[in-house]
Amino acid sequence: MAITKPSKSILKKCPNCEKLAVAKFRPFCSSRCSQLDLSKWLNENYRVPVVEIDDFDEEEFLDEEN
Ligand SMILES: [Zn+2]
Repeated sequence: MAITKPSKSILKKCPNCEKLAVAKFRPFCSSRCSQLDLSKWLNENYRVPVVEIDDFDEEEFLDEEN
């Protein structure tokens, strides 16, 4: 369970598709968008082939932001 931090701007847009972000997947609107963005980020930074991330741990991802 991720710790919810106080924020002035609660309604943020998903950087991937610009729908309203969902708290659980912030700053994204869904786990799918967070995974897509992560794979894109990894691809841009490490120049590796795009891979399927089926067992991506969302909780772990959120924890890294705290
Ligand atoms: Zn999205």
